[in-house]
Amino acid sequence: MLISIDDSAGFCWGVVKTIDKVEEVLQNSTDEQVYVLGDIIHNPREIERLEAKGLKTITHSELKNITNEKSKVIIRAHGEPPSTFKLADDLGLNVVDATCPLVQALQNRIKKAYDSGYQIVVYGKKDHAEVIGISGVCNGECIVIKSVEEALEKVDFSRKTMLFSQTTMEKQAFNEIKNALEGKVKDFIDGGDVNEVFIAKNTLCKYVYGREDKLQEFASNNDIVLFVAGRNSSNGKSLYHICRQANPNTYFIEDMEEINLDWFDGIERVGITGATSTPQWYMEKVKEKIETTLSKELVEIN
Ligand code: SF4
Repeated sequence: MLISIDDSAGFCWGVVKTIDKVEEVLQNSTDEQVYVLGDIIHNPREIERLEAKGLKTITHSELKNITNEKSKVIIRAHGEPPSTFKLADDLGLNVVDATCPLVQALQNRIKKAYDSGYQIVVYGKKDHAEVIGISGVCNGECIVIKSVEEALEKVDFSRKTMLFSQTTMEKQAFNEIKNALEGKVKDFIDGGDVNEVFIAKNTLCKYVYGREDKLQEFASNNDIVLFVAGRNSSNGKSLYHICRQANPNTYFIEDMEEINLDWFDGIERVGITGATSTPQWYMEKVKEKIETTLSKELVEIN
C-alpha cells in the first residue's frame, strides 16, 4: 500500500506567520503568562502543542481577570473587531496582534467602503471569528449572507452596495451570489433608481481556493483520502467538500483515533491531506499510525 501526504497541504502563509509569532512570544516570556483570545487557529492538535508550551486560551469575558500587567494577550489569525482592542487598551493589557495580514487587509478594505457610504454585504458565516471582526469595523451594519436566496431577501437594492467574501468561503457560491446581485442592480438602474454602483470584491484567500485544482487531482489519484482538520475549520469544510466531490471515498478526521481499519480493505493508494490550519507534523503522525497499525494487523493475521 502506498500512503502519501498531499504536498500542497499544511499551514498556509498566514497561519505560518501567526504560529511563528506565538512561538516567538512564548520563547521570550519567561515569567509572564501568554494568553490567546479564542482558539489561535481552528486545529485542536496544534492548540494542544502550543498549550503544552505555556499558551493559555481564554474567552473575551476572561480578559478582565488578567491582573499581571506583564502578561501578553495574543490576537489570533482570524482577527478581532476594534471593540476588543479598545477593551484590552482600557484594561491596560499588553496585546500582540497575530491577525493574518490578508484578514487585516480585508478589514481595512471593508472599513474604507463603509466609510464611503456603501452598503456592505459579506458572503460568510455570521458566527465565524473573522466575520465578527469584519462586522466590528462597520459598526455591526454589514449584511452577512450564505446564499443567493438570503442575498436577494436581505440586500437593499436602493443603496450603492459592495459585496465581499469571508476569506475561506467557496468560489463558485461567491460567483453565484455576485451574479444574482448584479442582475438586481441593473434592474434598478434601468428603472432610474438611485442605486448607481454595485461592486463585488472577491476577497477569497488564494491559499484556500488556489488549492482546489491540486486537491481534486490528489483526491482522484488515490483510492481513499483522509482529510485531516479541526471540525470547526471553515476552510476545512470547503476543501473537504471539494475533495469528496473528486473522490467519494474521502473521510474527514480530526483525530487519528477516528481511523477505521475497514476503510483500507483492498486499497492500494491512500492519500492524506488537510485544511490550511492542519499541521504537517500531525499528517505525518496519521501516516505513521496507519503504517504501524496495518503492519501489526498483518503480523497478527500471519
Ligand atoms: S487561509 Fe488565507 S486568510 Fe486565512 S489565515 Fe491562511 S493566508 Fe490568512
